[in-house]
Amino acid sequence: MNPQLDKDGNLRHLLEIEGLGRDRVVQILDTAESLLPLTERAVKKLPLLRGRTVVNLFYEPSPRTRMTFELAAKRLSADVLNLDVDHSSARKGESLLDTLRNLEAMHMDMLVIRHPDSGAAHFFATHADPQVTVLNAGDGSHAHPTQALLDMFTIRQHKPDFAALTVAIVGDIAHSRVARSQIAALRLLGTGEIRVIAPHTLLPADIDRLGVKVFTDIDHGLRDADVVITLRLQRERMQGADLPGSQEYFRHYGVSSERLALASPDAIVMHPGPINRGVEIASDVADGPQSVILQQVTNGIAVRMAVMALTMGGERTAAQEPGT
Ligand code: ASP
Repeated sequence: MNPQLDKDGNLRHLLEIEGLGRDRVVQILDTAESLLPLTERAVKKLPLLRGRTVVNLFYEPSPRTRMTFELAAKRLSADVLNLDVDHSSARKGESLLDTLRNLEAMHMDMLVIRHPDSGAAHFFATHADPQVTVLNAGDGSHAHPTQALLDMFTIRQHKPDFAALTVAIVGDIAHSRVARSQIAALRLLGTGEIRVIAPHTLLPADIDRLGVKVFTDIDHGLRDADVVITLRLQRERMQGADLPGSQEYFRHYGVSSERLALASPDAIVMHPGPINRGVEIASDVADGPQSVILQQVTNGIAVRMAVMALTMGGERTAAQEPGT
């Protein structure tokens, strides 16, 4: 049984891209598209989650993801609580289960969870009361589904025909929950060719099962790509020998303007943030005309609103409201 869906096949939780199916992903992207105009209005509010309580429980720092989840919930009129982990019970040794039970005792409706351990979001979804929705905001190196969805949304804005696309993901694939979720989403959407570009040490052990073409030479991997996704080195998930030096890394795997010229002339450049200029991406590329990095941030609000609306059962209203 897929823990993300209820018995009628509706989205209950969002834990990972795997198991969602193409139609569900397209439904989320379409709903986000219908919500996007709201983000440009003077009054950026819909009543879909009025009276509901959303808890952002972040055990790892994350300015962008947390802020855009918070904005998304507020734009849907929810009450939002942000649990600051540095001052929370987690530091005092409280178990995840006890934290969950206490939040349930406050009658929360939705839990947005980020945690350094892969599987943490599944843990919460499995143990939560039936009326609580769990959204994964990144768990270890496992999954970051809303990031992948906002990335697909951004790609679709620029290049809607996924079957015709060559997408190159460059960098630390091994430790990246973003890459894993992106690959799953790109596959569901029928992407023509998915490439990963990384040194052997930054490729996951199961890379052969992911349905991607592997390049260790960035110049070959970037050739004629339509979408170039750059990734941060996840140093917090590396140990001793794995840790590459920044300059050395940029020399071999950094996306510079010279290298970007190998891709399609109208290729877009993406990055989930935070960017490390001069490590995985050159400043002139990050700020250049092909970069859609800040569009990704804006789109993240609409995509997170869509996921919140759909998991709380507001599918029809969410699709209709902005036009009205
Ligand atoms: N913000 C993304 C994540 O949380 C990417 C990164 O941190 O490099 O996984």
